[in-house]
Amino acid sequence: MRDLLMIPGPVDVDAEVLQALSAPVLGHLDAGFIATFGRALKRLREVSLAPSAQPFVVSGSGTLAMELAVANLVEPGDRALVVNTGYFSDRMAHILERHGAQVTHVRAPPGGAPDAAQVEAELRKGGFKLMTVTHVDTSTAVLAPVEELLKVARHHGVLSVVDGVCATAGESFQQDAWGADVYLTASQKAVGVPPGLALLTVSPRALDAWRKRKAPVASVYADWAEWLPVMEAYEAGKPSYFATPPTSLVCALDVSLGHILAEGMEARFERHRRMARAFRAAWSALGLRLLPTSDAVAANTLSALYYPEGVDASLVGRVKAQGVAIAGGLHPELKTRYFRVGHMNRVTAADVLSTVGAIERALHAGGHRASAAGTGVAAAQASLSA
Ligand code: PMP
Repeated sequence: MRDLLMIPGPVDVDAEVLQALSAPVLGHLDAGFIATFGRALKRLREVSLAPSAQPFVVSGSGTLAMELAVANLVEPGDRALVVNTGYFSDRMAHILERHGAQVTHVRAPPGGAPDAAQVEAELRKGGFKLMTVTHVDTSTAVLAPVEELLKVARHHGVLSVVDGVCATAGESFQQDAWGADVYLTASQKAVGVPPGLALLTVSPRALDAWRKRKAPVASVYADWAEWLPVMEAYEAGKPSYFATPPTSLVCALDVSLGHILAEGMEARFERHRRMARAFRAAWSALGLRLLPTSDAVAANTLSALYYPEGVDASLVGRVKAQGVAIAGGLHPELKTRYFRVGHMNRVTAADVLSTVGAIERALHAGGHRASAAGTGVAAAQASLSA
């Protein structure tokens, strides 16, 4: 049976992306591959809305993208501020500490996001080199107020790293205009490619800070010094080698980035907002409470929802039995109390209706009959038709 994949990554990808993966493997010195890699790098810069940034495409997952940012910007003893919205902000802190940073957290209770004033109060104390923020924390579905936070970081002359793994190409973001130093992501979510690529766009300011560092980068594979000449060469139409690039995935990335740019960044952000609105209308009609504490901090790329009274984590399996794959909780303090539904990349109105319908049927099958069949689907329909 065919399941609709609605977990918060990896997500369903376009048939043309899959076709690129099934084409004969190209060598990294192949003229066609060189052109494709160069184009993919240019396209990544456009997707991040970062004309001034240096793109990096490296074989690895999102965690490597995080390490590619941290390892190059942090030296032992540097102070870093982590705007903490959940599990993946904790992971960023873990990576920062491994690279010798002294980490201060600005936290909100689960489901909330620290605001710019809280972050400003901490940065004003001085001494910070770097601020990190998780654009959408996939454990809580919290959307951080990134534009305001970046303003504060720039005001205090602090470098910024934004983890866009669950946001890039789904949530509104303009790297150059908002002044982010590193925007990092991975291939498997709203970027629309299977897992396997770590993606970064790095500002000239961050490259300057890296060039001025005194301590060597404490990882060979993550050192920008190894990758920068490779990225520059491919973009200039020449081959180069440090470590074998994942040629098939890079070809798939180029196809997906082409689709993203053809849709248009603003149209794509708006489609994600529209689908998220329809989902939220359905959740509200079904009496399902969001983990994010307000709509202002609710992500457009996924929903995190508390199980209603009398319903437990077996709901996820019952929804699967209805043909839709969703995910359980992830935040360590709450993970048995909520579930998550991804809605990114190719998400359409048909996916919204199928998913809400499957969740309704699963709730009913489990004996939870707080709302009549069709209540959630009708609310989503009304939102989609508005
Ligand atoms: N950051 C965020 C916000 C994520 O959602 C994830 C993965 N779900 C990661 C980082 C880590 O990415 P990966 O699992 O690809 O290493």
